[in-house]
Amino acid sequence: MAKIQMKTPLVEMDGDEMTRIIWKEIKDILITPYVDLKTEYYDLGLVHRNETNDQVTVDSANATKKYGVAVKCATITPNAARMTEYDLKEMWKSPNGTIRAILDGTVFRTPILVKGITPYIPTWTKPITIARHAYGDVYKNVELKCPEGAKAELVLTDKDGNVTKETIHEFNGSAGIIQGLHNREDSISSFARACFNYALDMKQDVWFATKDTISKKYDHTFKDIFQEIFDNEYKERFDAAGIEYFYTLIDDAVARVIRSQGGYIWACKNYDGDVMSDMVATAYGSLAMMTSVLVSPDGVYEYEAAHGTVQRHYYKHLKGEETSTNSVATLFAWTGALRKRGELDGISELADFADKLEKATISTIEEGVMTGDLYLMSTLENKRKVNTEEFLREIDKRLAAML
Ligand code: NAP
Ligand code: MG
Repeated sequence: MAKIQMKTPLVEMDGDEMTRIIWKEIKDILITPYVDLKTEYYDLGLVHRNETNDQVTVDSANATKKYGVAVKCATITPNAARMTEYDLKEMWKSPNGTIRAILDGTVFRTPILVKGITPYIPTWTKPITIARHAYGDVYKNVELKCPEGAKAELVLTDKDGNVTKETIHEFNGSAGIIQGLHNREDSISSFARACFNYALDMKQDVWFATKDTISKKYDHTFKDIFQEIFDNEYKERFDAAGIEYFYTLIDDAVARVIRSQGGYIWACKNYDGDVMSDMVATAYGSLAMMTSVLVSPDGVYEYEAAHGTVQRHYYKHLKGEETSTNSVATLFAWTGALRKRGELDGISELADFADKLEKATISTIEEGVMTGDLYLMSTLENKRKVNTEEFLREIDKRLAAML
């Protein structure tokens, strides 16, 4: 078979530890034998980030803006232990944070479902994608402890110097605490558009929920912005695609999510998304089966796995011990990026290849061949645990048969 040709390069962001090992194996075993892979390569491994004073992270994000599609390997976010381990010049910021700030994106996380791994909520037969608004609210708050007898006020000074004041609370008889939150209409609007665009891409409904009955200005603004953007810019396209935008109160939303079959995008305010994404990931079974894509309001896509660099497995690997690390989420980051590149460049063979590679991966697991993490959970009777590389070779056997 002739290799599939690409037009525009993918932005390739390499990373750290066990996922860096998997990254190369995925390319060598499953991609480059079939695709004449074109990438613009950025090494986001911590060693190279440190050498470039983290400039490589910024450059990779700018390249993503230029080309439109990136695929990223998991990377170490340095902490005190990593400062010594890698002899770092500085405690460099989280690459994901830096990239998200440059692309102004929204992160969508979707579980990969396979037979034999039953979600804790048995009715969830389709994936629930969580979209988290990654700006503001409690994550950019200002807080004060208030002594007994203090009076707390909210004071707003507009650009002409006009002052509006509201009493928050008079702390008579007890000390207390206060917190100042904010959000921005431009950020909420970007979030709404990212969710509606992604819904059109995926042909799935969007659910959104806040506590607008209690928070009549703050949360209500989120509700109003979503509704206005939907009515003015998306309603017709949603009707044509046969999908819906559904708004409800957050407590009603969680009740409906539990009773649902899945198969929609759940747009969450920042805190709800933080909490609910962990709940949803756990309920579907495994972080190693969770994909993640950052979508910017102008339609730039960065695909990655939701998990980290799997450090414990890496140290086993370095000692020459066998590992059985799950490569599915990283592999699906590659297929997501290749499919999107194929769609944007009008190369249907590339999108088909991505579909087949995903099918081969799922049938490998459903035929009982899996890594250790899934082996512990799978209810299949004929299951067999394989090591990191064997798993990829098993996928390749099935892929080759499909091509
Ligand atoms: P992690 O790498 O996600 O791993 C946590 C544990 O989950 C692993 O030790 C392993 O459990 C299990 N696991 C995760 N992915 C797996 C896979 N693909 N296959 C099999 N098991 C898997 O999280 P972490 O240990 O908290 O973080 C390690 C490093 O990753 C940190 O330096 C952190 O900064 C970074 N990180 C990066 C990203 C990102 O780039 N997006 C996200 C999160 C964390 P067992 O050891 O029990 O087998
Ligand atoms: Mg969380």
